[in-house]
Amino acid sequence: MNTSSSRRTFDSTQRKNASMCQHQPPCPTADSPDREAARLTAHHPEQGWSLLCNGVLLFEDTGELLPDGQIIAPHRPLAGRVVRAA
Ligand SMILES: [Zn+2]
Repeated sequence: MNTSSSRRTFDSTQRKNASMCQHQPPCPTADSPDREAARLTAHHPEQGWSLLCNGVLLFEDTGELLPDGQIIAPHRPLAGRVVRAA
């Protein structure tokens, strides 16, 4: 019995998308505290999320999902935006 898990490569985690950014000046990286300042590469308000240039998924409740899988809890309460017209 051989364990195939020993052949794991970390290709996807090694390939950080830091070099993906073509902007000048470059966007903050996903592990920067300034990460939300990165440019939007995709914006889906109807689904409640945006994708930033540095790979961060930004949700409409200000929660974030980092490219490495780390989850940032919402930190900016949407005061006054709770009521939705149906
Ligand atoms: Zn960028």
